[in-house]
Amino acid sequence: MTAPRASLFTRAGRRLRKLVDRPASVDVTRFEALLPAAVRREPELAELSDSELTAAAGNVGGDRLTEAQLVEICALGREAGRRTLGERAFDVQLVGVMSLLTGHVAQLDTGEGKTLVGAIAAAGHALTGRDVHVITVNDYLARRDADWMRPLFELLGVSVGWVEPGHTAEERREAYASGVTYGSVSEIGFDLLRDRLATSADEQVQPAPDVAIIDEADSVLVDEARVPLVMAGSAAAGAPDVTSTRVVSRLREGVHYEVDTDRRNVWLTPAGAAMVEKALGGIDLYAEANADRLAAVNVALHAHALLTKDVDYLVRNSRVQLIDSSRGRVAELQRWPDGLQAAVEVKERVPVSDKGEILDSITVQGLLARYPAVAGMTGTAVAVAETLREFYKLEIAVIPPHEPNIRVDEPDRIFLTQSDKIRAILAEVERVHATGRPILIGTQDVAESEELAGKLAKAGMECVVLNARNDEEEARIIAEAGTEGAITVSTQMAGRGTDIKLGGSHGTAADHQRVVELGGLYVIGTARYRSSRLDDQLRGRAGRQGDPGGSVFFASLNDEVVLAGAPDVPEDLPADEHGEVISPVAARHLDHAQRVTEGANLEIHRNTWRYTRLMERQRDDLLAYREELLRTNHAAEVLKASCPDHYADLAEQLKTEQLARVCREVLLYHLDQLWSDHLAFLNDVRESIHLRALGRETPIDEFHRAAIPAFHTIKTEAERLAAETLAAVTVTDSGPDLAGAGVRRPTSTWTYVVHDNPFGSDAEQALKKIRGTLRKKRR
Ligand code: ADP
Ligand code: MG
Repeated sequence: MTAPRASLFTRAGRRLRKLVDRPASVDVTRFEALLPAAVRREPELAELSDSELTAAAGNVGGDRLTEAQLVEICALGREAGRRTLGERAFDVQLVGVMSLLTGHVAQLDTGEGKTLVGAIAAAGHALTGRDVHVITVNDYLARRDADWMRPLFELLGVSVGWVEPGHTAEERREAYASGVTYGSVSEIGFDLLRDRLATSADEQVQPAPDVAIIDEADSVLVDEARVPLVMAGSAAAGAPDVTSTRVVSRLREGVHYEVDTDRRNVWLTPAGAAMVEKALGGIDLYAEANADRLAAVNVALHAHALLTKDVDYLVRNSRVQLIDSSRGRVAELQRWPDGLQAAVEVKERVPVSDKGEILDSITVQGLLARYPAVAGMTGTAVAVAETLREFYKLEIAVIPPHEPNIRVDEPDRIFLTQSDKIRAILAEVERVHATGRPILIGTQDVAESEELAGKLAKAGMECVVLNARNDEEEARIIAEAGTEGAITVSTQMAGRGTDIKLGGSHGTAADHQRVVELGGLYVIGTARYRSSRLDDQLRGRAGRQGDPGGSVFFASLNDEVVLAGAPDVPEDLPADEHGEVISPVAARHLDHAQRVTEGANLEIHRNTWRYTRLMERQRDDLLAYREELLRTNHAAEVLKASCPDHYADLAEQLKTEQLARVCREVLLYHLDQLWSDHLAFLNDVRESIHLRALGRETPIDEFHRAAIPAFHTIKTEAERLAAETLAAVTVTDSGPDLAGAGVRRPTSTWTYVVHDNPFGSDAEQALKKIRGTLRKKRR
């Protein structure tokens, strides 16, 4: 792996690099060249007893991985997999193992056995003394994979554990103490956040990050990279702006406000602005002094116009609960950014929930950046090669399938309208289903799945619908999608990580053979996704390990991806009597729309990262200091120097250890409080910059100008406040009274992830919107 030079990160540099750096993947021939040595080692290992094999694994040792160690790890992993799981790793899987061990993203198709690859690599790292986290896309897969691979780990003498939501601190500590720990990205992130607020070192559960092996790496590293994991503590909610909500509730679409085609943005028309200004007592909404009001109106308008009850959220037990549209379930751990959450609560006339003070947060990208060694595996990495390189300095190792892929991907079938498309999908399902060939239909979201299932039922075709309500149940259901005659309707997310065997998961060889003869699994996409990668993930469900299979996508010229990426559809495209477009222009236009959407997502990623990078660096800086306070008596020394009298006073009444603890808690308290305030401040700065759209300067510079000086006062301010607090600490019969001196930690804390922000505090989105608003206002 080559480290990119700094200059290559510039825009021009990136373009240059793209030209000189083809092909985008690392050369795996050097790994292939090591395979014969692993094969030679095999008969020797095969003769060992189990305990001798464990002992041999214990001898791998060493700290820098050599070629000899790569060979030994592969040979051991192959033998252990054969003995314990009945699966002898294929050559291509061992190439995958070596790619992971050397810090790459291994691209291996769906069904090629990445679970085994990841486990052998994880064991290999553990045998060389490293501490490994295997990061999965959900909690169910963490447990499944840890359990599934446990015999292999145990034979190699490596301990394995996993973390999941219900686990206690003690269980977590034990899981992380294992050589290999499986966990979903959010569980591992939440543990980190909790550790960062510990007030004594023995509360912490997670050791320092070392090696991360990421399954479905593109989902985690690209799709979820911007998602902030948040830890909040109880705090009273500020008074919501009820007036704005009331005024906005009287506005009408098309008259007072307009909504863009993808319904992500809403803005006031001049008539709407005039009405709001009048209702608010004749103010100038766009005057700088009214920036807060404008922000409140925008938030209220967003809640009013873009968020719909029972589609975007439910109101249950006087609470607003988000619905995750791609998964169709109440997203327990999710909420909108606070202003928006409160605006919806006001709109629905339910009590405004405890907004909680954000105590700390980290993005998925920031979380993974902490690991000195990162590797990943996925079926679809090449399409995001640029992103992986730019944000993670990761290169891709493209690994050919174990058996050649013989799946037939038919060209897209494109229709003029949605209804033409749906009719054609139903006809196609009917045609194929009549032969008994199993069909898997991939939809955009749960609502669409259910609608389609209804139509299929009406046409007399039984189907199973997956809606990602429960990962484990989904896995059981989708595992049967390859059964003869099955029709399964699923979102792209549902049932991830599950293998679809032809003839069913418990089918006989004859069952399998019959489905092979029918042509294997037939995958139908009901629309192209927002990236070609997601299309490929769906297609990849068919044709695993050399099985026959097929795929086809249906599309229409008013699919979401077209409206979002390239709504300017060429007019008068020729179509047949079923509304199917017969011009090659349509396919080109569709690809173009998808590329535009992909490009926009990359730009949003870049932009968000510009903001979060500064914040996360500041956090790291402060955490280094925090760790010192936690693990040494530095706090006592600081306070002894800054308020010697009070210190001496307390020293007479308390044991040295006790006093050191008091000093530590007092200083940590202020440090954490100031960090939480700083986060709120950064949020405000960021939002106000965008809402006011200060034209001349780029927002990011403006942000830095505010954020950097504010940060530099934190440490000294914490020490100053701590001295004041120490002066107020009294010693009672039950010991030092910290609460009496104002050291009150939140009575409860909770963790959540911020829902992909529909309000778009994403810089570009917000800027676009406010520009829209201002433009309309000036007209
Ligand atoms: P992926 O994550 O790459 O989609 P999985 O790890 O879920 O694939 O494995 C797919 C299937 O292949 C599983 O049923 C697994 O047991 C099987 N498998 C993996 N490796 C081997 C092997 N070397 N020999 C036999 N079966 C294997
Ligand atoms: Mg998998």
